[in-house]
Amino acid sequence: MNEQNEIDEVLSKVESFLLFQKELEVPIYLEKISDEAQTKFDSSFIDKQLSVFDEPFLKANDLIKLDALINSCQKCSLGKSRIKFVFGVGDRDADIVMVGEAPGADEDAQGEPFVGRAGKLLNELLREIGLEREEVYICNILKCRPPGNRDPLPEEVEKCEPYLLKQFSLLKPKIIVALGRIAGNTLLKSRETLSNLRREVYNYYGIPLFVTFHPAAILRNPNWKSNILDDLKKMKNYYDELVGY
Ligand code: SF4
Repeated sequence: MNEQNEIDEVLSKVESFLLFQKELEVPIYLEKISDEAQTKFDSSFIDKQLSVFDEPFLKANDLIKLDALINSCQKCSLGKSRIKFVFGVGDRDADIVMVGEAPGADEDAQGEPFVGRAGKLLNELLREIGLEREEVYICNILKCRPPGNRDPLPEEVEKCEPYLLKQFSLLKPKIIVALGRIAGNTLLKSRETLSNLRREVYNYYGIPLFVTFHPAAILRNPNWKSNILDDLKKMKNYYDELVGY
């Protein structure tokens, strides 16, 4: 087989695979989003994922009702160890949603995500790109704090992630920003380094998704502040183009 034939064969296999994915209506993760990025969120992908569950929280038609339906959750052991359930905070009509991995000690004590030193830094960083905390929506993948701030366990993510998907389904964000490697890999079902994750804009159920540092990492290494700012500026420019500013 000559070189051109080999290339044609590979391209044909890739095309068949993509058509197969399309038929299944499976969102393709880790795909660099095209220049003609989808600007309108289509919640049907997320709703389809959620349709396998048969639980009362799926009937919530706004965030307040959703919070009320899930805030006494005991589906995993974190329900017993938490002080406060941490649902999310911010503008319920926000176009930009920031997602961390799980609440820390301050968040657990106050019931609000991204408070304490990391939260203050996040507010500062947002201000530097022309946004106020109140203009975005902020939440975590897990709604309860893992003891000692350990990484979320797969079984905890499995139980809790449907709540996040329902939040997305109600919020209909135009952009999602995953804060930290763990949040990025958990949402994208990948195992990439943060440097790799930061390089691309991903298609997450039709929503452009960026990955950058967790603000707590910048507190540990202030030299990375310019990197997170670069990422957030890139995201803000993308957003401005998306909405036609
Ligand atoms: S972490 Fe999520 S699944 Fe586990 S108890 Fe809390 S809300 Fe429920």
